[in-house]
Amino acid sequence: MGELEYLITKDFEEIFSAIEKTKGLAKFIAGGTNIIPYMHAEAISPELLIDLNGLEDLKYIREKNGTITIGALTTISEIVASEIIGNKCQILHSAANSLGSPLTRNRATIGGNLADASPAADMAPPLLALEASIHTKRGGVEGREIPLDKFFIGPNKTVLAEDELITQIRFSKPKDSARGIFIKLGLRNSLAISVVSIAVILDMEGQVCQKARVALGAVAPTIIRAFHVESKLEGGEINENIIQECAEIVKEEISPISDIRASAEYRRLASSVILKRAIQQVLKGEVL
Ligand SMILES: Cc1cc2nc3c(=O)[nH]c(=O)nc-3n(C[C@H](O)[C@H](O)[C@H](O)COP(=O)(O)OP(=O)(O)OC[C@H]3O[C@@H](n4cnc5c(N)ncnc54)[C@H](O)[C@@H]3O)c2cc1C
Repeated sequence: MGELEYLITKDFEEIFSAIEKTKGLAKFIAGGTNIIPYMHAEAISPELLIDLNGLEDLKYIREKNGTITIGALTTISEIVASEIIGNKCQILHSAANSLGSPLTRNRATIGGNLADASPAADMAPPLLALEASIHTKRGGVEGREIPLDKFFIGPNKTVLAEDELITQIRFSKPKDSARGIFIKLGLRNSLAISVVSIAVILDMEGQVCQKARVALGAVAPTIIRAFHVESKLEGGEINENIIQECAEIVKEEISPISDIRASAEYRRLASSVILKRAIQQVLKGEVL
């Protein structure tokens, strides 16, 4: 491995030209809570680390005209503390509050959580259920908007090009009639990586479900939407029979693996149980 160089700057163009010069050996670092352990484990050996913390403009949480935008360098602690997220988007607040320890949350960023593309990334299920999109910047070409359901392509793999950085995460503020919940099942109550996680948002008009969004983590190579469950829930009344049918359907929509945290069988059963619990709790009036 060559000598490790380090760049911190406010200037996007300086970043893109440094990436071009290093030809595949540059890596972005934001909070460093994933990339530093990977480097220690020699899973990656970059020759240039580009510290994004020079890009102060990428730290914010804003709401304008019904759209919530979060800068990629916003830390998980800042999301937990945000009134906008606390008041308008409880499922994202819950997910942020469940990520790691306070120490980790103070460093970890939302952009780093999504770019790392762990199948167990805790910010991804609520953002997928909120139909969020990712905004990027690149050297030489226009940045783009990527719907989150097109962003993850495998464990630790995204559609991002090597010189493409996430600048912003954007989603519409949920309707007042929408309710949602995030549930994370880990091997202990805190400082645990998800064994299964779920985000459910239901938009109800009286007893009728107008729209359902269901996303799961740690049960497939990427965070996934449970499209068949969503179709089962939408357009009618949700009763115990429908919930039971959804609990069966979800087992077919996921493709879990066995690993050090849980077996595939356990994950299948647990997904079914927490989906039922999530729908029941949302119907009882959990706020979003
Ligand atoms: C003790 C501990 C506990 C943890 N617990 C959890 C947990 O419970 N749940 C969970 O989901 N995660 C957990 N993590 C993982 C990690 O903290 C999160 O995924 C975190 O959000 C990563 O953000 P970061 O800013 O530290 O990313 P970094 O480590 O800085 O970067 C991660 C990856 O993203 C890339 N990247 C970073 N920012 C950008 C950007 N703006 N654009 C493009 N690429 C970018 C980097 O190049 C790198 O490949 C834990 C980690 C530790 C060390």
